[in-house]
Amino acid sequence: MGTIEDVKAQLDIVETVRGYVPALKKVGRSWKAPCPFHSERTPSFIVEPERGTWHCFGSCSTGGDVIGFVQRIEHLEFRDALQMCAQRAGVELRQPSARERQEREVHERLLRANEAAAVYFQAALTGPAGAKALAYAEQRGLDQGARDIWQIGYAPDDWRGLVEHLLARGFTEADLREAGLGIDGDRGMYDRFRDRLMYPTRDARGRMIGFGARALSPDQEPKYLNTPQTPLFDKSGSLYGIDRAGEEARRSDRMVVVEGYMDVIACHQAGIRNVVASMGTSITEKQMTLLQRYTQKVRLMLDGDAAGSAAMLRGIGVVASTSGQETVATHDWRGLISYQYQSKADIRVVVLPPGEDPDSLVRSDPERLKALLEGAKPVADHLFAAIEADMDASNPQSRSQAVETLAPTVSGIVDPVVRAHYVQRLARLGQVEERTVLALLSRGSRPAAVPSQAEVTRMAKAVAVVPDGEMQLLQLLLLRDDARDAGLELDADVFEDSTNRRLYDAWLEVDDLEAHALDLDEDVAERLGTVQASAVGAWDPAAIEMKHIRPRVEEIAKRLRLRRAQSRLIPVAVAQATAVLEARRADTTPAAELEELQTELAAMDAQGRVLVRRAAGARVETTSYSEETVSSGPGVGGNGVEGAHDSDI
Ligand SMILES: [Zn+2]
Repeated sequence: MGTIEDVKAQLDIVETVRGYVPALKKVGRSWKAPCPFHSERTPSFIVEPERGTWHCFGSCSTGGDVIGFVQRIEHLEFRDALQMCAQRAGVELRQPSARERQEREVHERLLRANEAAAVYFQAALTGPAGAKALAYAEQRGLDQGARDIWQIGYAPDDWRGLVEHLLARGFTEADLREAGLGIDGDRGMYDRFRDRLMYPTRDARGRMIGFGARALSPDQEPKYLNTPQTPLFDKSGSLYGIDRAGEEARRSDRMVVVEGYMDVIACHQAGIRNVVASMGTSITEKQMTLLQRYTQKVRLMLDGDAAGSAAMLRGIGVVASTSGQETVATHDWRGLISYQYQSKADIRVVVLPPGEDPDSLVRSDPERLKALLEGAKPVADHLFAAIEADMDASNPQSRSQAVETLAPTVSGIVDPVVRAHYVQRLARLGQVEERTVLALLSRGSRPAAVPSQAEVTRMAKAVAVVPDGEMQLLQLLLLRDDARDAGLELDADVFEDSTNRRLYDAWLEVDDLEAHALDLDEDVAERLGTVQASAVGAWDPAAIEMKHIRPRVEEIAKRLRLRRAQSRLIPVAVAQATAVLEARRADTTPAAELEELQTELAAMDAQGRVLVRRAAGARVETTSYSEETVSSGPGVGGNGVEGAHDSDI
């Protein structure tokens, strides 16, 4: 069993970061790249392998260790990031519980069953029963190389072939049932896949989680049959080819999503390797989340015939307006906390010429396919074009419907300039005035402006975390004698945590606190130890130049006050959001309650502003309060000092 330190020691930070940031270059003893967390041209993102830390000296002004990096880039909770790092480092963090052990055993058995089935299918393709399937595969352009790489196989036209094969190799009927390979029938278990071309599907980690199976005769239904939902396979959250496309997607900062297995294979054969398939008609939010582990730039490639289909448009609309976006509670100009989707994903659409699919086009004219990819259009443009084409402009009913369909997409756009552009377009399309559209959007934006229950919970949880800026401030005071003057000017109120406050009070009283450690209460003494022990990693108070000490103390203190002011606002905002959520669930207007909360929030806000003005003081230039976001992400209780200041750490 290992500790967090073992994980960090085992995991090479440069190698790990480079997996996500291929541009990382060695400069002297450290490594440099444009920051993956904010957009910039000049690299201000530094990795220091000797210290095992990374830091963004640009607008993130934050840093941490390898686990913090993975947490941030994978959008994970700390626990999950630690787990992921431990797994990569091959460190067992703790004894798994009996249930976890059992779950892991089941997974491993099912994976082995899938692998054994794939070998069986592969052998069948080149065996006597597979002649017809092999001919089909070759006619589709699957040469020997592609067949080997993608482990293409054939499920023979046989009711018990695979079942008996696997039972003879020690697998149980329960294994086959759970892996989705066998189906219980009146006369015993039989093969799910019969007379089909088999595409084994792997997850991002390369584990064989299931199969896609294509019919070989025209009377077979359905044309494509997937492994059902199993402990390993979740179709809506899987992407065919992700195990082979991920690296190239990170390198090229782009991922192309197509529909079918053959589309993926053909593109990879043609050297376009950042391609995966959604395995369905439209992409889901879960798939979008998976994609964002590799890149924010997603290109959806649609067959000409399907591009305008209602199901496809709805799917794209949902993904474009909800996923790939973080809900951020912002303090807006009205003094109210509002929720905005900050769009991070850049989703674009490529529509192929009629009658073409990626498979056919990449084989006949790969350059054309690449050119089409270059010219991919923003999702909103695609939706406008598709819906406009379908609309009867002379019919008010039809125009109204078109406007209603497009409104959520437009109201999901955060950038005011871009949004204004589409508002104008929507007004033209509906043949109405812009203010009519705006009225519609503000009505329609209500749902988008309300966070989900999960987001509310996360926000509420974020408040409960002690801001670790307190720790850093204490470290400065305790480890740097030259911080004393600046420290004396603070007041204990800066610290939210009562133990920290008492430690500060003790520090005020004596010059050398360590010498008086025995006089301290037990919990305060313990905190003193923690403060001293944790001054390592990206944040090293000993390394700060003397002239920066005072500004640093003041800056942290300012941020703590600011955070505190904000944290008082959040519970009210959470209550407000909860009220709206509940009202929406019950389908009533939460008028009275909501109004009360809004009044309370406005009052808190006024107080907050006073606090902020006081906190800002005159010394350090500060961003205006309205630009400070109370985010549900790493902002509150996150990575310590987060100012737009360059750093000398
Ligand atoms: Zn940055």
